[in-house]
Amino acid sequence: HAKALGRNRSCIYSQELSAHKSSQLSLEQDLRDAVENEEFSLEFQGQFRPGERIPRRVETLIRWPHELRGQVSPHEFIPLAESSGLIRELGFWVLRRACAEFMSWRQQGMKLEKIAVNVSAMQINSRFAETVETIMKETGFEPAWLELEVTESLMMSGMTEVNNQIHQLRALGVEFSIDDFGTGYSSLSKLKEMPVSVLKIDRSFVRNIHDQENDYEIARAIVAMADSLNIEVVAEGVENEEQGETLRHLGCEWLQGYLYGRPMAADDFLRHYS
Ligand code: C2E
Ligand code: MG
Ligand code: MG
Ligand code: MG
Repeated sequence: HAKALGRNRSCIYSQELSAHKSSQLSLEQDLRDAVENEEFSLEFQGQFRPGERIPRRVETLIRWPHELRGQVSPHEFIPLAESSGLIRELGFWVLRRACAEFMSWRQQGMKLEKIAVNVSAMQINSRFAETVETIMKETGFEPAWLELEVTESLMMSGMTEVNNQIHQLRALGVEFSIDDFGTGYSSLSKLKEMPVSVLKIDRSFVRNIHDQENDYEIARAIVAMADSLNIEVVAEGVENEEQGETLRHLGCEWLQGYLYGRPMAADDFLRHYS
């Protein structure tokens, strides 16, 4: 009986697995089509100085309004874009659009100093810096306006090609930030060697910062460390006043989260903040 049950289970399991697999496959096919037809859109979320209501910086977030599935989360389709190799084309599409929106906002009088764009490790090959430079030139966008958000593991990978590309862009004036900081394995000494301008404290530490001593201490340590390395700190995912006040008290220079501004489409962003 136990054996039969076991067989049964593994049968159900493999059915589920293949259902999952085929749904991933069809999502991948949809993603391929969506990249080809440019079916994505962008939203923008402000980064604020404590106490200010108009953002000086902005982060770009991709959206995929799927005709049958509704909004597909980037947490779902970015990994798929990475494993299928589509992330390069998609990433450059995002960058091109982000630069163009930023230029248009400035022309319409917004006083933004920088736009951040998320970049995944899989995007970085030997032609990455060159293509980023071309896109900036095409749109008349100054390198100092661009901040690329990368992960700790990418920044700390130690891979020569990655370092080359990062240094090439740094030489142009493009800045780098480390996203979701505190969740990876950065060492202090490596951090000091890397050309990082900004650390973004991961939302998981911000969530309970006002009542969890551990999270508070981690945030405090990140701010202190960044301070001594001359690196700026952005707190992400700030949703309530207690969190914001605690971070401000710690000396965090930039705040980002639903409390200050939700991600919104480019024209809403312009209307909202000008
Ligand atoms: P991320 O870069 O860490 O972005 C922050 C995420 O938190 C975004 O989710 C944003 O909408 C959300 N968020 C902002 N404020 C709050 C808040 O106060 N509370 C909560 N609960 N969430 C908040 P989103 O847009 O779903 O993006 C998820 C992740 O997908 C991003 O995390 C980033 O890693 C990735 N991603 C988004 N756009 C791109 C892109 O253009 N390229 C690449 N490679 N990755 C992207
Ligand atoms: Mg980010
Ligand atoms: Mg983040
Ligand atoms: Mg995050």
